Amino acid sequence: MTLKLPVLVTGGAGYIGSHAVLALVDAGWPVAVIDNLTTGFKFAIPGDVPFYEGDIEDAELLARIFSEQGMTGGQGAIMHFAGSVVVPESVENPLKYYHNNTAKSRALADAAVKAGVPHFIFSSTAATYGIPEVSPVREDVPRQPINPYGMSKLMTELMLADVSAAHPLNYCALRYFNVAGADPEARTGQSTAGATHLIKVAVEAALGKRDAVSIFGSDYDTPDGTGVRDYIHVSDLAAAHVLALEALIAQPGRSLTMNCGYGRGFSVLEVLDAVDRVTNLTIERRMEGRRAGDPDSLISDNRRIRETLPWEPKFADLDTIVSHAVQWERKLGGMRSRA
Ligand code: UDP
Repeated sequence: MTLKLPVLVTGGAGYIGSHAVLALVDAGWPVAVIDNLTTGFKFAIPGDVPFYEGDIEDAELLARIFSEQGMTGGQGAIMHFAGSVVVPESVENPLKYYHNNTAKSRALADAAVKAGVPHFIFSSTAATYGIPEVSPVREDVPRQPINPYGMSKLMTELMLADVSAAHPLNYCALRYFNVAGADPEARTGQSTAGATHLIKVAVEAALGKRDAVSIFGSDYDTPDGTGVRDYIHVSDLAAAHVLALEALIAQPGRSLTMNCGYGRGFSVLEVLDAVDRVTNLTIERRMEGRRAGDPDSLISDNRRIRETLPWEPKFADLDTIVSHAVQWERKLGGMRSRA
């Protein structure tokens, strides 16, 4: 049994962070959240979890949290989700991304080192690979991000590697593929407006929040010509974080970098068919041109996480991912109309 150290979740009011909070709470870990609520929602955090509204570059606030949550003197762990995630925005406003994803991560790591917090889990991304030459993608292929979002995350990974070599802190960088779905009990889900990700967009269309779904490109080098991605259920991803934390605690001298995906892909058309099937509707599809920077296919090689952690995905079925996304979208609509 791993000793359950206190965990501070940054960005715990956001999409993936709020699922990690639930996974930790469900497994009995003491959890606190820091979030500046620029894109997150307080309703996403269980009411009995200590919540600090503020910024991870606020060193005084972090020192207070570490002290109040019993994380000083070699105790505790940080799960770091706070950051900006919109790729096109990162192209238009790169300095925002180097600030929110790189500089603020530096500030957080600095505070962790000063307080002696020994474990750090970092929310990284398959965007650190850019357009990989080989798919499925292994962790050790060259990292060549093609946008500031991916670069801002890669820079943080590199920084953590140096920090862990110099200080008593080990880290795990988890590189997410396409995260989708929602908590099976609909306690949280993807809530931020202006979604661009395929499953969220398609589910919004199915529920009448959009007229149609655009299909960005049908001439890719894939079986049906549309882009193929490795969609991973957000609750399976959250579970991987808890297991990664246990691995960091079990071997304090070891840091880890692992892909998070199922190692299989679905095309845009297959995803839209799943949404039609699950909702019993026919969403309108509009064929459009390719979106800049989209690879044909992006699938994880997940052998490393499978060999390193006792990770057993529970929700890999595409219809399950879609049905949980639909369930959350219905609930979210109700919450917004009551607000
Ligand atoms: N896509 C699409 N229509 C949309 C959104 C996405 O056809 O409205 C396609 C996109 O071109 C890619 C796949 O769906 O092939 C997944 O895109 P998403 O934006 O969800 O994630 P990404 O892989 O870009 O991180």
